[in-house]
Amino acid sequence: MTPSSDSTFRDIIAQVKENADIVAIIGQYLPLKKAGSRWLGVCPFHHDRRPSMNVTPQMGIYKCFACGAGGDVIRFVQDYEKLSFVDALRAVAARTGIQVPEKFSVSEGGGREKTELALAANQLAAAYYSEQIEKAPFVLDYLEKRGINPETRRQFQLGFAPDSLDGLLRRAESRKLPLEALSEAGILGVTEGGRRYERFGGRLVFPIWNLSGHIIGFGGRTLDPQGQPKYVNSPESPLYHKSRVLYGFNFARNAIDKAQEVVLVEGYMDLLSLWQAGIKNAVAVSGTALTRDHVHILGRFAKRAVLFFDGDGAGRKAVKRSLEPLLAQGVEIRVPVLPSQEDPDSFIRQNGAEGVLQLFAGGDDLAGFLLREAGKEPEKMSPEEKDSVFKEGAALMQLMPSEVVRQGHLETLRKALKISAGAVSYAPVPQKGKPKQGPQPPAGGGGLPGLFVPESGFRPRDEAIPEWQLLQLVLAYPGAASERLEHFDIDELQDPVVRDLLDHALALLAETGEIRLTELSERLPENLRDALLAVENLEAAADTEKSASRLKMLGDIVYTLEMRVLKRRLSAETDLARHMELQRQVKELTHRNQGGTP
Ligand SMILES: [Zn+2]
Repeated sequence: MTPSSDSTFRDIIAQVKENADIVAIIGQYLPLKKAGSRWLGVCPFHHDRRPSMNVTPQMGIYKCFACGAGGDVIRFVQDYEKLSFVDALRAVAARTGIQVPEKFSVSEGGGREKTELALAANQLAAAYYSEQIEKAPFVLDYLEKRGINPETRRQFQLGFAPDSLDGLLRRAESRKLPLEALSEAGILGVTEGGRRYERFGGRLVFPIWNLSGHIIGFGGRTLDPQGQPKYVNSPESPLYHKSRVLYGFNFARNAIDKAQEVVLVEGYMDLLSLWQAGIKNAVAVSGTALTRDHVHILGRFAKRAVLFFDGDGAGRKAVKRSLEPLLAQGVEIRVPVLPSQEDPDSFIRQNGAEGVLQLFAGGDDLAGFLLREAGKEPEKMSPEEKDSVFKEGAALMQLMPSEVVRQGHLETLRKALKISAGAVSYAPVPQKGKPKQGPQPPAGGGGLPGLFVPESGFRPRDEAIPEWQLLQLVLAYPGAASERLEHFDIDELQDPVVRDLLDHALALLAETGEIRLTELSERLPENLRDALLAVENLEAAADTEKSASRLKMLGDIVYTLEMRVLKRRLSAETDLARHMELQRQVKELTHRNQGGTP
C-alpha cells in the first residue's frame, strides 16, 4: 500500500496505527500474556517483575499501571528503541506494508533529526564496510583461521574499515549524507588537534543492531596481534548506550524466549562461534560489565543464564560482577567450568554443540561457583573460612526477589560447606521496594467477569460502582444501551469521570454508529484515557443467553440510577404539586421495572 502523494502526515500516522498489530509489535520486545481481552507483560520502562504493562489492542494503546508509561504503538517503539518519532513511525510502518514517503524525514519538524541521521550513517557505513571486507583477503583469511564461515560472516554483516577515510567520505557525499551524521554516529572521531579520523580504521567491524533492526553502533577488532586496544566500540550517543546494548540479541531473541535461557559470552567472536555451532540463544555484552539494564532486558525472556566466560582471572571476575544484576532480577545462573587453557571460542570449535551443551549441563550453580571460588574443599577449610564463604553467598542471596528461592540456595550452600543446620538462621529478609498491596478492586457484580483490571489498582467510591458498570455495558452493547438510556440524563451521574467518558462514548456512537475503542481513546484527554483503561473490557458475548442476562443487568443498573435521581429530587422538592408528580414518576418507574408497561 502506498499512500497517495497528497496524503498528509497525519493520515499516514493514522494509517500506520490502524494497520499495526500492537500486540505483535510490543510482543517482539517482551513476552505478553493474554488476560481477557487485553495483554499483560512486564513493563520495560521501570524495574519490575510483575506484569503491570497492559496492552489493549481494541484501543491500540499500552499502559503501565505501575510507572504510567503509555501511548500508542509508535510511542512504544520510540521510547523503547530511543528513536525519533519519524524513525519509530518508519519502523512500525515497515511491519504494516505502508510506505512512509522519504520527504517526511526532512519536512517534519523542519530538519532531519540527529538520531535519524546517525542511523542513516550507520547503515551507510555498514554497507560500505561489508563491501570492503570482500576486497581485503587478509581479513577473510583471519576469519577463516578463526573458523568463521562466509554464511555467518554475512548473517552478522561483518565488515572491514580501511585506514583511510576517503572511500567512506566519498560514499557519504554521493548519498548526500552530511559529514556531521558520521560524527554523530561516532564513526568519525576527532583528535585533540582537530584532525578527523576513522574510529574503526584498520579493524574488523561488527555492526550492532537494536530490536527493530536498526544498526545503532559498531564494535571493531584490531587485526594486528600487537594492536591496542583490542576492541573499540561506538561512543555513547542517543542511539548507543553500552549499558543497554546486547550484541546479537536481535538474532537470539526468539531462541532465548523459546529456551527461557540465555547464554552470556564476553566477546563477539565467542558469540559467532556459538551461533555457527547451532547454539543461538546467546548474546555478548560489548565493552562493559553486565548491568541491571541488560538483565532487565534479558530477564523478560530468560529465566536462566549460562555465564560462558573465560576461565582465567578476568573471566571469573566478570562472572562475579554479573551475578548481582542477574540474581536481583531473579534469574537462575549456571557457570560452566572450562578445562584450563581453553577459552569459550576454542572449546566450541573443538567440541561442537554437543560438547558445549554437556559442559553447560555440568556447570556450577551459585553454591558450586562460590565453593569453587574459595579454592578449597570444605573439609580443608577453617571455620572462619567457611563463615566467610557463607556470608559472601548470603549477601548475594539477599538480592533474590523470592524468599523461597533464597532459602533454597542458602540451604544448598550450607550443606555444600558442611555447616551444621543449627549454626545458621534463615530469617526472612524484609523486602525493600516491594509494592504495597493496594485495596482490592471490587469484583464485578452479578455475572460480570470483573469491572476493573486488577493490576490497575483502580477503585472508585462504592456508590459509583453501578455507574462504572453502566459504562462497561455501554461499551460492550452500545446499541441496546443507548436505547435504554434514551430518557436518562447522563449529567445526573455522580462520578464525573464516568460522566465524561459516557459523554464521549455516546457522542462517538451518535456520529459513527459504533463505539470503536481506538477512536474513543484517541479523543480522550489523558486522565480519561487512563480511567478507561482501568475498566475491564467486556467483549459482547456470542452466547445469546449471556448477552440477554447482561442486557437485563443493564436495565437494572439504569433503573437503579434513575431511581436514585428521582429520590434525590424528591427529597429536595418543596413544591407540593411537583412533589406529587415526582412520586408518580417513582411509582411508574417501579411498575415499569417490574415488567409492566407504562
Ligand atoms: Zn512501567
